[in-house]
Amino acid sequence: MLTNGIRDGNASAASFDLVIIGAGINGLGIARDAAQRGLKVIVLEKDDICGGVSAWSGRLAHGGLRYLEHRDFALVRESLRERERMIQLAPHLVKPLRLLMPFYSHNRRPVWLIRLGMILYDVLSFDKRTGGHEILNTEATRRRFAGIAPQGLGGAAVFTEGQVEYAERLCVELAVAAAADGALIRTKVRVEEPVLEAGRVAGVRYRDTASGEMQEVRGSLVLNVAGPWIDRIFQRGAPPQPRLNGGTKGSHLIVDPFPGAPQDVVYYESKTDGRLVLVIPWAGRYMIGTTDLRFDEDPDGARCSAAEMNYLLNEVNQLIPEAKLSPRDVLYTFSGVRPLPYAPGVVEAKIPRSHVLHDHAPDMPGLVTVVGGKLTTYRQLAEDAVDDAFRRLGRGKVACMTAKLPFPGAQFDAAELRRELTGGGLSQRSAERLIALYGGRARAVAAEARNDKGLLQVIHEGSGAIGAELAFALRHEFAVTLADVLARRLLLAFEPGHALAEAPAMAALIGARFGWDPQRQSAEVESYKAWLSHLAVPQEAA
Ligand SMILES: Cc1cc2nc3c(=O)[nH]c(=O)nc-3n(C[C@H](O)[C@H](O)[C@H](O)COP(=O)(O)OP(=O)(O)OC[C@H]3O[C@@H](n4cnc5c(N)ncnc54)[C@H](O)[C@@H]3O)c2cc1C
Repeated sequence: MLTNGIRDGNASAASFDLVIIGAGINGLGIARDAAQRGLKVIVLEKDDICGGVSAWSGRLAHGGLRYLEHRDFALVRESLRERERMIQLAPHLVKPLRLLMPFYSHNRRPVWLIRLGMILYDVLSFDKRTGGHEILNTEATRRRFAGIAPQGLGGAAVFTEGQVEYAERLCVELAVAAAADGALIRTKVRVEEPVLEAGRVAGVRYRDTASGEMQEVRGSLVLNVAGPWIDRIFQRGAPPQPRLNGGTKGSHLIVDPFPGAPQDVVYYESKTDGRLVLVIPWAGRYMIGTTDLRFDEDPDGARCSAAEMNYLLNEVNQLIPEAKLSPRDVLYTFSGVRPLPYAPGVVEAKIPRSHVLHDHAPDMPGLVTVVGGKLTTYRQLAEDAVDDAFRRLGRGKVACMTAKLPFPGAQFDAAELRRELTGGGLSQRSAERLIALYGGRARAVAAEARNDKGLLQVIHEGSGAIGAELAFALRHEFAVTLADVLARRLLLAFEPGHALAEAPAMAALIGARFGWDPQRQSAEVESYKAWLSHLAVPQEAA
């Protein structure tokens, strides 16, 4: 019995070319690429699409200026090329933005090194369509960023990167594209055991997290793409494997616009410890990040600590003296564990950021684990993993097309779409919201209300979200729970108040259309509240 997630196929009976564990950016990138090249694919995810670290990143599609320090030119080139592709292929979700890097006399990195880095960065992104870097003198820096602390300031470099405001939506669209090409996406199923047959991994056993029922799925190749969970997948039935993940925890703080706040992303060297800190304009607010701390516990338990919060607040207050931010200004926080290769004895900032495909032969042939990988380079990682899968499956290689394939919501004429949506009864604000979140798919969202006018109602005043989005999330975007809907489809979890006041009415609206009885509705609201602990502000210092 299939009880949750995608219901259009009997996963247990079928045998797949690829069984993919994990529906983060990397698992979904692989699923999309593999399905598009004709492989039979299933994705198994314990939580939800983008339920892991893909939602807890700095949300930048960046070349990794910092990696130049480690002379990792290949990774920088790859990242810059992929950043550019993301901006071209998903322009509704990935936008260019300017970063400002101040030169301070206390910086450990000398100005000449940053200038050289900027030139290299431009050379390595020779095919970009966005502008190159500029060097500003002190006055021009202060004109551009009036709030910046003037002591020791000697100018700044300004350059362009990409911002993935909502990585959740990027992941959802990858899932939609993969499913359109025939991939099965199953959420709320936790992989627990390998199926071992004749000395090979022939599939996996997984638990339906709602019913507790165990099921089995077979596949010619199993890809473990569980990000920071890669070493925790098989709780039973697998021979001991080497440790692969050496993840570090990173936290971000979210605050409202504050006195002296910059218009650009500011990327600067901490006066305290020389680390690079970011102040990022994000969704009308500011993200401040990040930290880099060894973390060996279950990544699900990663939360921002009071010490991290104080460190980050102190860094911003030093950069922008009039900010005077205190724990009371922190609206919420989030933390994630970077899926980095295990590198004992290596300083956190120096752990390699490139990805590796780890073959578990001879102990467990048929199982490959993807180690590492950034949000920015997911497409290249997927191409490499699928090329490798074709080789292992002994199939004639089919060319990868994803470097040219737009995202499902990418192609639309904004003016025409706006006219259409407002002509169909939506306010200007709701129309803008739908276009920003769904791109060209906004039309399909609004169509949910065609025969159900109740879905045109605004369900959240602050954002202008409408009822049709709820129905669309459940019908067309693999959402199963209220938390899936609010945290990873409509993104209302990130609005002030987290839409908690409106959550019961939303559960009722869904209930009336999808058969959630009152008991289920209140259970959904309660589990959404429990999920909100991911955004908690550490109390001991507040
Ligand atoms: C603080 C921080 C800042 C970052 N900033 C950036 C940035 O600005 N730009 C950038 O490019 N990258 C950034 N990254 C890195 C980036 O977020 C990750 O490398 C990327 O999201 C990894 O994606 P993934 O799909 O491999 O892992 P995940 O997104 O974690 O996906 C793995 C999935 O596997 C699932 N799973 C786990 N166990 C099981 C199981 N037993 N059965 C089924 N499913 C399971 C999880 O629920 C999860 O959904 C940052 C990371 C951090 C922590």
